[in-house]
Amino acid sequence: PFVVAIVGRPNVGKSSLFNRIAGDKIAITDDEIGVTRDRIYAKAEWLTKKFSLIDTGGIDIIDAPFLSQIKEQALLAMDEADVIIFLTDGKSGVTDGDSYIAKQLYQTNKPVVLAVNKIDDVNQINNIYEFYQLGFEDPIAISSNHGIGIGDLLDRVISYMKDDKEIIDESAIKFSIIGRPNVGKSSLTNAILGRNRVIVSDISGTTRDAIDSKFKFNKKDYIVIDTAGIKKRGRIYENTDKYSVIRTLGAIDRSDVVLVVIDGNEGIIEQDKNVAGYAMDANKAVVIVVNKWDIVEKDDKTMQKMIRKIREEFKFLDYAPIVFTSARENERIHTIFPSIDLAYENYTKEIKTNVLNQIIQDAVAMNPTPIHNHGKANFSYATQVSIKPPTFVLFVNDPEFVHFSYERYLANQLRDAIDFEGTPVRLILRRKV
Ligand code: GDP
Repeated sequence: PFVVAIVGRPNVGKSSLFNRIAGDKIAITDDEIGVTRDRIYAKAEWLTKKFSLIDTGGIDIIDAPFLSQIKEQALLAMDEADVIIFLTDGKSGVTDGDSYIAKQLYQTNKPVVLAVNKIDDVNQINNIYEFYQLGFEDPIAISSNHGIGIGDLLDRVISYMKDDKEIIDESAIKFSIIGRPNVGKSSLTNAILGRNRVIVSDISGTTRDAIDSKFKFNKKDYIVIDTAGIKKRGRIYENTDKYSVIRTLGAIDRSDVVLVVIDGNEGIIEQDKNVAGYAMDANKAVVIVVNKWDIVEKDDKTMQKMIRKIREEFKFLDYAPIVFTSARENERIHTIFPSIDLAYENYTKEIKTNVLNQIIQDAVAMNPTPIHNHGKANFSYATQVSIKPPTFVLFVNDPEFVHFSYERYLANQLRDAIDFEGTPVRLILRRKV
Protein backbone atom coordinates (compact mmCIF):
# COMPACT_ATOMS: atom_id res chain seq x y z
CA PRO A 1 0.00 0.00 0.00
CA PHE A 2 0.85 3.60 -0.52
CA VAL A 3 1.45 5.29 2.81
CA VAL A 4 0.93 8.95 3.62
CA ALA A 5 2.07 10.41 6.95
CA ILE A 6 1.08 13.70 8.53
CA VAL A 7 3.76 15.45 10.57
CA GLY A 8 3.78 18.80 12.30
CA ARG A 9 4.26 20.35 15.69
CA PRO A 10 1.46 20.05 18.26
CA ASN A 11 -1.78 21.97 17.72
CA VAL A 12 -1.42 22.65 14.03
CA GLY A 13 -4.43 20.38 13.46
CA LYS A 14 -2.98 17.02 12.48
CA SER A 15 -5.78 14.99 13.99
CA SER A 16 -8.47 17.14 12.40
CA LEU A 17 -6.83 16.72 9.03
CA PHE A 18 -6.47 13.00 9.63
CA ASN A 19 -10.15 12.69 10.48
CA ARG A 20 -11.13 14.87 7.56
CA ILE A 21 -9.24 12.67 5.10
CA ALA A 22 -9.99 9.30 6.66
CA GLY A 23 -13.62 10.17 7.29
CA ASP A 24 -15.60 7.42 8.93
CA LYS A 25 -13.36 4.69 7.59
CA ILE A 26 -11.48 4.53 10.85
CA ALA A 27 -12.10 1.44 12.85
CA ILE A 28 -11.31 2.17 16.44
CA THR A 29 -13.64 0.64 18.90
CA ASP A 30 -14.57 -2.94 18.71
CA ASP A 31 -17.27 -4.18 21.00
CA GLU A 32 -16.36 -7.74 20.33
CA ILE A 33 -12.93 -7.26 21.83
CA GLY A 34 -13.93 -4.52 24.19
CA VAL A 35 -10.93 -2.34 23.59
CA THR A 36 -10.38 1.05 22.07
CA ARG A 37 -7.57 1.29 19.66
CA ASP A 38 -5.84 4.45 18.64
CA ARG A 39 -6.91 6.55 15.75
CA ILE A 40 -3.52 6.84 14.20
CA TYR A 41 -3.62 4.65 11.14
CA ALA A 42 -6.45 4.48 8.65
CA LYS A 43 -7.35 3.55 5.14
CA ALA A 44 -8.39 6.40 2.93
CA GLU A 45 -9.29 7.02 -0.66
CA TRP A 46 -9.17 9.94 -3.07
CA LEU A 47 -10.40 9.80 -6.66
CA THR A 48 -10.42 6.00 -6.51
CA LYS A 49 -6.79 5.93 -5.33
CA LYS A 50 -6.42 4.07 -2.08
CA PHE A 51 -3.78 4.79 0.49
CA SER A 52 -3.00 4.37 4.17
CA LEU A 53 -2.79 7.40 6.38
CA ILE A 54 -0.68 7.86 9.51
CA ASP A 55 -1.16 10.58 12.08
CA THR A 56 2.20 10.86 13.79
CA GLY A 57 0.66 13.38 16.14
CA GLY A 58 -1.44 10.74 17.82
CA ILE A 59 1.75 9.89 19.60
CA ASP A 60 2.89 11.51 22.78
CA ILE A 61 6.08 10.40 24.33
CA ILE A 62 5.79 11.13 27.97
CA ASP A 63 8.76 12.99 29.37
CA ALA A 64 10.56 13.40 26.11
CA PRO A 65 11.56 16.98 25.40
CA PHE A 66 9.54 18.80 22.79
CA LEU A 67 12.21 18.87 20.10
CA SER A 68 13.08 15.22 20.34
CA GLN A 69 9.40 14.34 20.19
CA ILE A 70 8.84 16.09 16.93
CA LYS A 71 12.11 14.74 15.65
CA GLU A 72 10.94 11.21 16.35
CA GLN A 73 7.69 11.92 14.57
CA ALA A 74 9.52 13.19 11.54
CA LEU A 75 11.83 10.16 11.54
CA LEU A 76 8.91 7.80 11.82
CA ALA A 77 7.19 9.48 8.90
CA MET A 78 10.37 9.36 6.85
CA ASP A 79 10.71 5.65 7.57
CA GLU A 80 7.15 4.56 7.07
CA ALA A 81 5.62 6.83 4.48
CA ASP A 82 5.84 7.26 0.73
CA VAL A 83 4.66 10.85 0.92
CA ILE A 84 4.80 13.21 3.88
CA ILE A 85 2.28 15.93 4.55
CA PHE A 86 4.06 18.61 6.55
CA LEU A 87 1.31 20.49 8.34
CA THR A 88 1.70 24.03 9.66
CA ASP A 89 -0.57 26.65 11.17
CA GLY A 90 -1.48 29.72 9.13
CA LYS A 91 -2.80 31.54 12.18
CA SER A 92 0.40 31.33 14.17
CA GLY A 93 2.76 31.71 11.23
CA VAL A 94 6.15 29.99 10.94
CA THR A 95 7.57 28.99 14.32
CA ASP A 96 10.90 27.56 15.45
CA GLY A 97 9.23 24.18 15.76
CA ASP A 98 8.28 24.32 12.07
CA SER A 99 11.82 25.22 11.05
CA TYR A 100 13.12 22.38 13.14
CA ILE A 101 10.81 19.86 11.48
CA ALA A 102 11.72 21.26 8.08
CA LYS A 103 15.37 20.62 8.85
CA GLN A 104 14.61 17.00 9.67
CA LEU A 105 12.62 16.58 6.51
CA TYR A 106 15.43 17.97 4.30
CA GLN A 107 17.17 14.67 4.99
CA THR A 108 14.59 12.58 3.19
CA ASN A 109 14.35 12.05 -0.51
CA LYS A 110 10.65 11.38 -0.19
CA PRO A 111 8.16 13.94 -1.44
CA VAL A 112 7.07 16.45 1.17
CA VAL A 113 3.83 18.33 0.65
CA LEU A 114 3.65 21.49 2.72
CA ALA A 115 0.15 22.41 3.90
CA VAL A 116 -0.84 25.53 5.79
CA ASN A 117 -3.86 24.84 7.97
CA LYS A 118 -6.45 27.11 9.55
CA ILE A 119 -6.87 29.27 6.46
CA ASP A 120 -10.59 29.44 7.10
CA ASP A 121 -11.50 32.12 4.59
CA VAL A 122 -10.05 33.80 1.52
CA ASN A 123 -8.97 36.90 3.44
CA GLN A 124 -6.33 34.86 5.18
CA ILE A 125 -4.79 33.48 2.01
CA ASN A 126 -1.83 35.87 2.22
CA ASN A 127 -0.80 34.14 5.41
CA ILE A 128 0.66 31.31 3.41
CA TYR A 129 3.48 33.30 1.78
CA GLU A 130 5.80 33.33 4.75
CA PHE A 131 5.76 29.51 4.67
CA TYR A 132 7.87 29.51 1.50
CA GLN A 133 10.84 30.17 3.79
CA LEU A 134 10.58 26.57 5.02
CA GLY A 135 12.07 25.51 1.74
CA PHE A 136 9.32 23.38 0.22
CA GLU A 137 7.51 24.17 -2.96
CA ASP A 138 4.06 25.72 -3.15
CA PRO A 139 2.43 25.57 0.24
CA ILE A 140 -1.20 24.55 -0.03
CA ALA A 141 -3.75 26.52 1.97
CA ILE A 142 -6.27 24.37 3.76
CA SER A 143 -8.81 24.44 6.52
CA SER A 144 -9.27 21.05 8.10
CA ASN A 145 -12.22 22.21 10.12
CA HIS A 146 -14.04 23.75 7.17
CA GLY A 147 -12.93 21.21 4.61
CA ILE A 148 -11.27 23.82 2.39
CA GLY A 149 -8.34 22.94 0.13
CA ILE A 150 -8.36 19.27 1.09
CA GLY A 151 -8.98 18.23 -2.50
CA ASP A 152 -6.00 20.25 -3.74
CA LEU A 153 -3.85 18.74 -1.04
CA LEU A 154 -4.87 15.19 -1.90
CA ASP A 155 -4.44 15.84 -5.63
CA ARG A 156 -0.85 16.75 -4.89
CA VAL A 157 -0.36 13.76 -2.61
CA ILE A 158 -1.63 11.19 -5.06
CA SER A 159 0.33 12.76 -7.90
CA TYR A 160 3.31 11.02 -6.28
CA MET A 161 1.63 7.65 -6.45
CA LYS A 162 3.19 5.42 -9.01
CA ASP A 163 1.01 2.82 -10.59
CA ASP A 164 3.65 0.14 -10.54
CA LYS A 165 3.93 0.37 -6.78
CA GLU A 166 2.15 -2.89 -6.09
CA ILE A 167 3.85 -4.95 -8.73
CA ILE A 168 6.13 -6.71 -6.35
CA ASP A 169 6.58 -10.41 -6.43
CA GLU A 170 3.04 -11.62 -6.78
CA SER A 171 3.94 -15.26 -6.50
CA ALA A 172 5.39 -14.85 -3.02
CA ILE A 173 3.21 -15.04 0.07
CA LYS A 174 3.72 -11.98 2.21
CA PHE A 175 3.42 -12.42 5.93
CA SER A 176 4.25 -10.48 9.07
CA ILE A 177 4.98 -11.52 12.62
CA ILE A 178 3.25 -9.44 15.23
CA GLY A 179 2.79 -9.62 18.98
CA ARG A 180 3.48 -7.72 22.16
CA PRO A 181 7.11 -7.19 23.20
CA ASN A 182 9.14 -10.23 24.21
CA VAL A 183 6.88 -12.96 22.88
CA GLY A 184 9.71 -13.91 20.55
CA LYS A 185 9.01 -12.14 17.27
CA SER A 186 12.62 -11.44 16.42
CA SER A 187 13.70 -14.90 17.49
CA LEU A 188 10.97 -16.37 15.33
CA THR A 189 11.95 -14.23 12.37
CA ASN A 190 15.53 -15.40 12.73
CA ALA A 191 14.51 -19.03 13.14
CA ILE A 192 12.33 -18.83 10.06
CA LEU A 193 14.96 -17.16 7.97
CA GLY A 194 17.85 -19.18 9.33
CA ARG A 195 19.78 -20.28 6.31
CA ASN A 196 16.78 -19.82 4.08
CA ARG A 197 17.41 -16.17 3.48
CA VAL A 198 18.01 -15.63 -0.17
CA ILE A 199 17.95 -11.91 -0.54
CA VAL A 200 17.55 -9.13 1.88
CA SER A 201 16.47 -6.15 -0.01
CA ASP A 202 14.04 -3.45 -0.59
CA ILE A 203 11.61 -5.69 -2.43
CA SER A 204 9.25 -3.16 -3.85
CA GLY A 205 12.00 -1.12 -5.40
CA THR A 206 10.64 1.93 -3.69
CA THR A 207 12.28 4.16 -1.21
CA ARG A 208 10.83 2.40 1.77
CA ASP A 209 13.44 1.89 4.44
CA ALA A 210 11.91 -1.17 6.01
CA ILE A 211 13.66 -4.28 4.95
CA ASP A 212 11.57 -7.24 3.98
CA SER A 213 13.20 -10.58 3.42
CA LYS A 214 12.38 -12.94 0.65
CA PHE A 215 13.15 -16.60 1.05
CA LYS A 216 12.22 -20.04 -0.17
CA PHE A 217 10.79 -22.87 1.87
CA ASN A 218 9.90 -26.18 0.21
CA LYS A 219 10.42 -24.48 -3.14
CA LYS A 220 7.84 -21.82 -2.40
CA ASP A 221 8.53 -18.11 -2.20
CA TYR A 222 7.71 -16.12 0.90
CA ILE A 223 8.37 -12.59 2.02
CA VAL A 224 8.53 -11.90 5.71
CA ILE A 225 7.69 -8.30 6.43
CA ASP A 226 10.17 -7.02 8.91
CA THR A 227 8.80 -5.67 12.13
CA ALA A 228 11.65 -7.03 14.18
CA GLY A 229 14.15 -4.80 12.45
CA ILE A 230 12.52 -1.87 14.13
CA LYS A 231 14.53 -2.64 17.19
CA LYS A 232 17.88 -2.01 15.65
CA ARG A 233 17.29 1.62 15.13
CA GLY A 234 17.90 2.72 18.66
CA ARG A 235 15.54 5.59 18.61
CA ILE A 236 13.19 6.64 21.34
CA TYR A 237 10.17 5.26 19.63
CA GLU A 238 11.17 1.67 19.87
CA ASN A 239 10.08 1.85 23.47
CA THR A 240 6.81 3.59 22.97
CA ASP A 241 3.61 1.76 22.42
CA LYS A 242 2.12 3.98 19.81
CA TYR A 243 5.13 3.99 17.57
CA SER A 244 5.23 0.26 17.62
CA VAL A 245 1.51 0.25 16.94
CA ILE A 246 2.10 2.26 13.79
CA ARG A 247 4.86 -0.10 12.73
CA THR A 248 2.65 -3.07 13.44
CA LEU A 249 -0.23 -1.60 11.50
CA GLY A 250 2.07 -0.83 8.61
CA ALA A 251 3.36 -4.38 8.57
CA ILE A 252 -0.14 -5.84 8.74
CA ASP A 253 -1.16 -3.56 5.92
CA ARG A 254 1.54 -4.99 3.67
CA SER A 255 0.80 -8.63 4.55
CA ASP A 256 -1.47 -11.31 3.21
CA VAL A 257 -1.07 -13.48 6.27
CA VAL A 258 -0.44 -12.22 9.78
CA LEU A 259 1.20 -14.43 12.39
CA VAL A 260 -0.06 -13.39 15.79
CA VAL A 261 2.51 -14.58 18.31
CA ILE A 262 1.70 -15.23 21.94
CA ASP A 263 3.92 -16.40 24.76
CA GLY A 264 2.88 -19.95 25.60
CA ASN A 265 4.44 -19.73 29.00
CA GLU A 266 2.91 -16.46 30.13
CA GLY A 267 -0.43 -17.01 28.50
CA ILE A 268 -2.77 -14.44 27.00
CA ILE A 269 -2.97 -10.92 28.39
CA GLU A 270 -4.98 -7.87 27.36
CA GLN A 271 -2.20 -6.56 25.12
CA ASP A 272 -2.32 -9.77 23.08
CA LYS A 273 -5.98 -9.17 22.37
CA ASN A 274 -5.21 -5.67 21.20
CA VAL A 275 -2.57 -6.86 18.82
CA ALA A 276 -4.79 -9.65 17.52
CA GLY A 277 -7.56 -7.11 17.11
CA TYR A 278 -5.43 -5.12 14.68
CA ALA A 279 -5.05 -8.16 12.47
CA MET A 280 -8.77 -8.76 12.58
CA ASP A 281 -9.61 -5.14 11.79
CA ALA A 282 -7.41 -5.31 8.73
CA ASN A 283 -9.29 -8.33 7.39
CA LYS A 284 -6.14 -10.34 6.87
CA ALA A 285 -5.57 -14.06 7.02
CA VAL A 286 -4.32 -15.00 10.49
CA VAL A 287 -2.29 -17.81 12.02
CA ILE A 288 -1.84 -17.91 15.80
CA VAL A 289 1.62 -18.96 16.93
CA VAL A 290 2.12 -20.14 20.49
CA ASN A 291 5.83 -19.63 21.08
CA LYS A 292 8.17 -20.58 23.93
CA TRP A 293 6.50 -23.97 24.00
CA ASP A 294 9.82 -25.45 25.16
CA ILE A 295 9.56 -23.97 28.63
CA VAL A 296 5.93 -24.86 29.21
CA GLU A 297 5.42 -27.72 31.61
CA LYS A 298 3.41 -30.16 29.61
CA ASP A 299 1.40 -33.29 29.86
CA ASP A 300 -0.78 -34.86 27.17
CA LYS A 301 -3.59 -32.36 27.76
CA THR A 302 -1.61 -29.12 27.83
CA MET A 303 -1.88 -28.41 24.13
CA GLN A 304 -5.64 -29.01 24.02
CA LYS A 305 -6.08 -26.79 27.05
CA MET A 306 -4.10 -24.03 25.41
CA ILE A 307 -6.16 -24.30 22.24
CA ARG A 308 -9.37 -24.09 24.24
CA LYS A 309 -8.07 -21.06 26.10
CA ILE A 310 -7.12 -19.30 22.86
CA ARG A 311 -10.52 -20.00 21.33
CA GLU A 312 -12.13 -18.51 24.42
CA GLU A 313 -9.98 -15.40 24.51
CA PHE A 314 -9.78 -14.79 20.78
CA LYS A 315 -13.38 -15.52 19.83
CA PHE A 316 -13.10 -13.08 16.97
CA LEU A 317 -10.27 -15.12 15.43
CA ASP A 318 -12.04 -18.46 15.50
CA TYR A 319 -10.95 -19.07 11.91
CA ALA A 320 -7.22 -18.89 12.68
CA PRO A 321 -5.19 -22.10 12.79
CA ILE A 322 -2.97 -22.48 15.86
CA VAL A 323 0.62 -23.71 15.82
CA PHE A 324 3.13 -24.29 18.61
CA THR A 325 6.80 -23.37 18.31
CA SER A 326 10.01 -22.76 20.11
CA ALA A 327 11.98 -20.09 18.33
CA ARG A 328 14.86 -20.32 20.76
CA GLU A 329 15.27 -24.08 20.44
CA ASN A 330 14.42 -23.98 16.76
CA GLU A 331 11.65 -26.53 17.25
CA ARG A 332 8.51 -27.00 15.15
CA ILE A 333 9.27 -23.88 13.12
CA HIS A 334 8.43 -25.72 9.90
CA THR A 335 4.88 -26.38 11.18
CA ILE A 336 4.13 -22.71 10.57
CA PHE A 337 4.32 -23.09 6.82
CA PRO A 338 1.43 -25.47 6.10
CA SER A 339 -0.76 -23.10 8.11
CA ILE A 340 0.47 -20.04 6.25
CA ASP A 341 -0.13 -21.84 2.95
CA LEU A 342 -3.61 -22.94 3.93
CA ALA A 343 -4.56 -19.50 5.23
CA TYR A 344 -3.28 -17.90 2.04
CA GLU A 345 -5.02 -20.40 -0.20
CA ASN A 346 -8.32 -19.69 1.52
CA TYR A 347 -7.67 -15.95 1.63
CA THR A 348 -7.45 -15.99 -2.16
CA LYS A 349 -10.16 -18.57 -2.76
CA GLU A 350 -12.73 -18.04 -5.47
CA ILE A 351 -16.13 -19.67 -5.26
CA LYS A 352 -18.13 -20.36 -8.37
CA THR A 353 -21.37 -18.41 -8.47
CA ASN A 354 -23.58 -21.46 -8.84
CA VAL A 355 -21.93 -23.17 -5.88
CA LEU A 356 -22.27 -20.04 -3.79
CA ASN A 357 -25.94 -19.60 -4.63
CA GLN A 358 -26.70 -23.21 -3.87
CA ILE A 359 -25.17 -22.79 -0.41
CA ILE A 360 -27.22 -19.67 0.29
CA GLN A 361 -30.42 -21.26 -1.01
CA ASP A 362 -29.88 -24.34 1.12
CA ALA A 363 -29.15 -22.21 4.16
CA VAL A 364 -32.34 -20.20 3.67
CA ALA A 365 -34.39 -23.35 3.04
CA MET A 366 -33.09 -24.91 6.24
CA ASN A 367 -33.63 -21.85 8.36
CA PRO A 368 -36.08 -19.40 6.74
CA THR A 369 -35.51 -15.71 7.35
CA PRO A 370 -37.52 -14.43 10.30
CA ILE A 371 -39.52 -11.19 10.21
CA HIS A 372 -37.21 -8.33 11.16
CA ASN A 373 -37.95 -4.60 11.07
CA HIS A 374 -41.48 -5.47 9.90
CA GLY A 375 -40.27 -7.27 6.85
CA LYS A 376 -39.04 -10.56 5.55
CA ALA A 377 -35.75 -10.79 3.74
CA ASN A 378 -35.85 -12.31 0.33
CA PHE A 379 -32.44 -13.18 -1.08
CA SER A 380 -32.25 -13.19 -4.81
CA TYR A 381 -28.64 -13.68 -5.74
CA ALA A 382 -25.12 -13.88 -4.38
CA THR A 383 -21.79 -13.26 -6.04
CA GLN A 384 -18.15 -13.08 -5.00
CA VAL A 385 -16.75 -9.62 -5.63
CA SER A 386 -13.20 -10.04 -4.41
CA ILE A 387 -10.53 -12.16 -2.78
CA LYS A 388 -8.12 -11.12 -0.02
CA PRO A 389 -10.35 -11.78 1.86
CA PRO A 390 -13.16 -13.55 0.01
CA THR A 391 -15.97 -11.02 -0.15
CA PHE A 392 -19.50 -11.81 -1.19
CA VAL A 393 -22.36 -9.55 -2.11
CA LEU A 394 -25.85 -10.82 -1.32
CA PHE A 395 -28.70 -9.11 -3.07
CA VAL A 396 -31.81 -8.88 -0.94
CA ASN A 397 -35.14 -7.04 -1.20
CA ASP A 398 -34.17 -4.88 1.78
CA PRO A 399 -30.97 -5.22 3.86
CA GLU A 400 -32.89 -3.72 6.82
CA PHE A 401 -34.88 -6.94 7.04
CA VAL A 402 -31.77 -8.98 7.79
CA HIS A 403 -30.91 -9.28 11.47
CA PHE A 404 -27.16 -9.42 12.11
CA SER A 405 -27.53 -12.83 13.68
CA TYR A 406 -29.03 -14.10 10.43
CA GLU A 407 -26.13 -12.59 8.53
CA ARG A 408 -23.79 -14.44 10.85
CA TYR A 409 -25.77 -17.63 10.29
CA LEU A 410 -25.27 -17.30 6.53
CA ALA A 411 -21.56 -16.66 6.98
CA ASN A 412 -21.31 -19.76 9.16
CA GLN A 413 -23.17 -21.86 6.62
CA LEU A 414 -20.74 -20.66 3.99
CA ARG A 415 -17.84 -21.62 6.23
CA ASP A 416 -19.36 -25.04 6.87
CA ALA A 417 -19.68 -25.71 3.18
CA ILE A 418 -16.33 -24.31 2.06
CA ASP A 419 -12.94 -24.46 3.74
CA PHE A 420 -12.10 -20.94 4.79
CA GLU A 421 -9.75 -21.82 7.62
CA GLY A 422 -7.31 -19.01 8.29
CA THR A 423 -9.23 -16.29 6.52
CA PRO A 424 -12.04 -13.93 7.40
CA VAL A 425 -14.98 -13.89 5.03
CA ARG A 426 -16.99 -10.78 4.31
CA LEU A 427 -20.67 -10.64 3.46
CA ILE A 428 -22.12 -7.45 2.07
CA LEU A 429 -25.88 -7.01 1.81
CA ARG A 430 -27.15 -4.97 -1.11
CA ARG A 431 -30.63 -3.92 -1.95
CA LYS A 432 -31.79 -5.50 -5.15
CA VAL A 433 -32.90 -2.79 -7.54
P1 GDP B 1 10.25 -9.87 20.52
O1 GDP B 1 10.30 -8.68 21.39
O2 GDP B 1 8.84 -10.38 20.39
O3 GDP B 1 10.93 -9.73 19.22
O4 GDP B 1 10.99 -11.04 21.35
P2 GDP B 1 12.50 -11.60 21.20
O5 GDP B 1 12.60 -12.44 19.98
O6 GDP B 1 13.44 -10.49 21.35
O7 GDP B 1 12.56 -12.58 22.44
C1 GDP B 1 12.39 -12.12 23.76
C2 GDP B 1 13.06 -13.09 24.73
O8 GDP B 1 12.40 -14.36 24.69
C3 GDP B 1 14.51 -13.37 24.38
O9 GDP B 1 15.21 -13.48 25.59
C4 GDP B 1 14.47 -14.70 23.64
O10 GDP B 1 15.65 -15.44 23.77
C5 GDP B 1 13.33 -15.39 24.35
N1 GDP B 1 12.66 -16.36 23.46
C6 GDP B 1 12.21 -16.15 22.21
N2 GDP B 1 11.63 -17.27 21.71
C7 GDP B 1 11.71 -18.20 22.69
C8 GDP B 1 11.30 -19.57 22.76
O11 GDP B 1 10.72 -20.18 21.87
N3 GDP B 1 11.55 -20.22 23.94
C9 GDP B 1 12.18 -19.59 24.99
N4 GDP B 1 12.37 -20.30 26.08
N5 GDP B 1 12.58 -18.31 24.92
C10 GDP B 1 12.36 -17.62 23.80
